[in-house]
Amino acid sequence: MSGANPPISSELLEILACPACKTSVKLDGDRLVCDSCGRRYRIENGIPIMLIDEAEQPGSVPSDS
Ligand SMILES: [Zn+2]
Repeated sequence: MSGANPPISSELLEILACPACKTSVKLDGDRLVCDSCGRRYRIENGIPIMLIDEAEQPGSVPSDS
């Protein structure tokens, strides 16, 4: 296990777009990040969760409790 493999394929990444603003997203670690609105989408088992309701929004710090 090198951990160097990207969580999703580049082909999949190319067709993905932020559901909020229809902008292409980029891979940032194990998240997909929208350059336009800053929302971050997680990837579960190779499946990007491209849902506005599930996205982490910029400025909203996840609670650490
Ligand atoms: Zn967006």
